[in-house]
Amino acid sequence: MNKLGIFMNFWEKNWDADHKKYIKKASDIGFDVLEFQAQPLLEMSKDHMKDLAKLAEECGIELTYSLGLDRNYDVSSMDEKVRLGGVDYLQRIVERIGYMGGTLLSGVSYAGWGTPDNFLGDKRPYWENSIKSMREIIKTAEDNGVTYCVEAVNRFETCLINTAAEALAYVAEIDSPNIGVLLDTYHMNIEENNIGDAIRLVGDKLTSFHTGENNRTAPGRGHLDWDEIFGALADINYKNRIVSEPFVMEGGEVGRDIHVYRNLVENPSEARIDEEAKYLLNFEREMLKKYNMA
Ligand code: MN
Repeated sequence: MNKLGIFMNFWEKNWDADHKKYIKKASDIGFDVLEFQAQPLLEMSKDHMKDLAKLAEECGIELTYSLGLDRNYDVSSMDEKVRLGGVDYLQRIVERIGYMGGTLLSGVSYAGWGTPDNFLGDKRPYWENSIKSMREIIKTAEDNGVTYCVEAVNRFETCLINTAAEALAYVAEIDSPNIGVLLDTYHMNIEENNIGDAIRLVGDKLTSFHTGENNRTAPGRGHLDWDEIFGALADINYKNRIVSEPFVMEGGEVGRDIHVYRNLVENPSEARIDEEAKYLLNFEREMLKKYNMA
């Protein structure tokens, strides 16, 4: 069966949190993977990183990483100082993921998160700068055994890569075994004409997959067609990770950055979110069984 994961900020309203607590929780609930924001790795001591990696191993949890790149480190920037600073920043993050024994980075990690200031529609120069930066960053990824997953996200979060086709074009220009495509059902629901076709188009270049509903609740709670989604994953014989990334609580850094302005789960206590995590894990296991992926 595909490894099934959860993003730590299903529970936490700030990006950084007690990683140990969530490694144990993810394991107790039955997940295989815990994903969290990569930036806090830069603030951790090597000893702390080793402790986390050790605990994850003991708990049978694989740690994977995501980021929404701070615009001060925008690797697509027209400002060469910002661009080069971004390359250095992402190389340091990739090295730290490698140090943790990690193999996967996802998210808006190819440009600053959001639309560039003064952007009036010609994205080609930003694209070229991002490619130039990525050719440097990917060498560090290769040296550290990290796969860089380029995530296609909706138009309100980047102007560069909104669709599966754009992600494929980007990955083709980098041409490294350490770069692949990440598709996310929430973003695909906004940008793709047909979600199943987008998954089939990416095919064996799909290196990770994020699930979430049309409104970023847990899979099965909204109106996405999960038969279409899991049917397409079965069509491409998808064997990689499936990480659920619901955001259901208002407030904090996460509510601000993800634009969650109301609770999407009633009275979201920790126990209530635990229940919702169990529900979504069971939902995805059942879908994998239904499509003979288990
Ligand atoms: Mn995602």
